[in-house]
Amino acid sequence: MTARMVDRSKRGAGLVGLVAALAVTLACMGTPGTEPAAPPPAPPASEASGEPVDGSMSVEEFERDISGAVRLAEQYWKERFTESGQRFEAVRRVLTYSRNGEISCGQQEIPRNNAVYCPAGDFIAYDVNWAVAAFRQIGDAFIFFLLGHEYAHAIQARLGIQHQFTIQSELQADCMAGAYLGDSVQSGQLDLQDGDLDEFRAGLEAVGDDPDQPWFAEGSHGTARQRIESFFRGYDSSFSACDLT
Ligand SMILES: [Zn+2]
Repeated sequence: MTARMVDRSKRGAGLVGLVAALAVTLACMGTPGTEPAAPPPAPPASEASGEPVDGSMSVEEFERDISGAVRLAEQYWKERFTESGQRFEAVRRVLTYSRNGEISCGQQEIPRNNAVYCPAGDFIAYDVNWAVAAFRQIGDAFIFFLLGHEYAHAIQARLGIQHQFTIQSELQADCMAGAYLGDSVQSGQLDLQDGDLDEFRAGLEAVGDDPDQPWFAEGSHGTARQRIESFFRGYDSSFSACDLT
């Protein structure tokens, strides 16, 4: 999967009803304290040989994918805001951490094995060791999903979208991540390689909630099936399928 520095056509309707407000909850990739990107039950078929399907699995490749994913998400949402006549502000910073409590969001310490968007500081932070492990186990597409999901939380905050339950915010962020990726592939700004779609599925399998977790519980993100459904709804139908208004 490769991000390009080109500005091509775009699809989808403009965003409406933008309101500048920040959500107060700490949005994250999985239930804090768990390891949402534990190795998936089975590798995608395309990676059954154990060989990466595209590119190397080096740290340099990882860093290039992270910055490519952030740049692509910024550009994507900037275009959507501009279409609506709204000013867009990029997420202030993208930080890495490797220890529990190394970074806090407001009063809340960010746990290891996670990635979050922090509305209080308007930053994305991810456990670098966890993310590199997921990159190597699942593939580079997971990194584009991960950054797209966290960036989506920043967009929700900018739009003033608030939900009654965590799971609604999380599934919407999955849909928005799908929209940014699907639209970027459509517009030629992102090259999809064999296996990337399987990697999205494998990544969502890995971060899905335990089936026993009540959907209304604080921290619920959705089962793997729900997350895959939301992601591909956005991927196939763009952000208008994500109920952003
Ligand atoms: Zn989230």
